[in-house]
Amino acid sequence: MTHRLIPAFALLIFLGGFLTQGVPPVQAKTPDDQAGNKLTPGTYVPDLVPRRYTEPYVLQRLTERTYWVAVASHNSLFYVGEEGVIVFDPLSAGWGQAVLQAITSVTDLPVSALVYSHFHLDHIADAQVFVDATKSRGASLRIIASAKVAEQIKRYGTPIPSPTEVIEDDPGVVSFEGLRIHVQSTGDSHAPDNSMFLLEQEQVLHYVDSVEPEDLIPYFRLGGILEVGSTTDSLRRSLDMDWRFLSAGHGNVGSKKDIDKHLELIADIRVAAREAMAEEPFDDYVNMEVPDAVVWIAAHEEAIAVRAKNQLRPKYGESLRFDVTMDSHIIMMVGDIGHFGGQ
Ligand SMILES: [Zn+2]
Repeated sequence: MTHRLIPAFALLIFLGGFLTQGVPPVQAKTPDDQAGNKLTPGTYVPDLVPRRYTEPYVLQRLTERTYWVAVASHNSLFYVGEEGVIVFDPLSAGWGQAVLQAITSVTDLPVSALVYSHFHLDHIADAQVFVDATKSRGASLRIIASAKVAEQIKRYGTPIPSPTEVIEDDPGVVSFEGLRIHVQSTGDSHAPDNSMFLLEQEQVLHYVDSVEPEDLIPYFRLGGILEVGSTTDSLRRSLDMDWRFLSAGHGNVGSKKDIDKHLELIADIRVAAREAMAEEPFDDYVNMEVPDAVVWIAAHEEAIAVRAKNQLRPKYGESLRFDVTMDSHIIMMVGDIGHFGGQ
């Protein structure tokens, strides 16, 4: 395995926790032992971990025309039309090249459309790889994003290719060779511009940085969110939509049961945090020898996290992520309860 450090920007946003992971070398693959069989809805790609960290990419067919690709800690999605391919998120850190390699293992058609789910560079910084590849084929590339994503790109002035098509309506619709793609803001607090994409005829939902199917315990702070209520609302809204496969950006291929499990996890953390807060009165942490409320809050939250984690351990403690992320989830929840109350 070659070792190349992931660019710093990818570390800053949402890396899935694999900070020193090298980029696997891209090798030609035959089309395809892995990709030929469609996944049964509600099941996971077998042995995905550690395959995703040791193989150049893991490709999984979902439907007749839709494929899911895992590269290291991130996932992308593509749909093969009659004349071209549409890709949902080009990824970053060299992984875009692996996504392209996966595409060429199933079709000779060029990538003719690229979608940005949201303006977090770890999911889109390799867009130029697709621009160059399509150009070298003499084809043209549509780059599609919501108005909010376009606004963020403009705001930060980051040198990624600008969208050629901005979806002004919310919810809106994009067409790709007869495929109808329903696009709507998630309204969650992971990013101000996060959007979900329902590939209607395919019954596939691309909703990135939402839940982590199979892995369950999410990235720090419940997947890098700012508050819980809008995120749970968004997840519940997605359950009302007509889909059988979830492409979540991280973790395995998902189904509605993964969203149910994530909502259950959030509810369990809320209960554990509330009980621990009741057992640890804030007044016990007021210490005038250290006259700073932030210092008291830190000590108080740490004590709550210890108690709540003990309560959650029997159900969730086997996860490798439990000990490294659960404090952040609990402290995030304590802040949420402090700000908003709620049950
Ligand atoms: Zn993100």
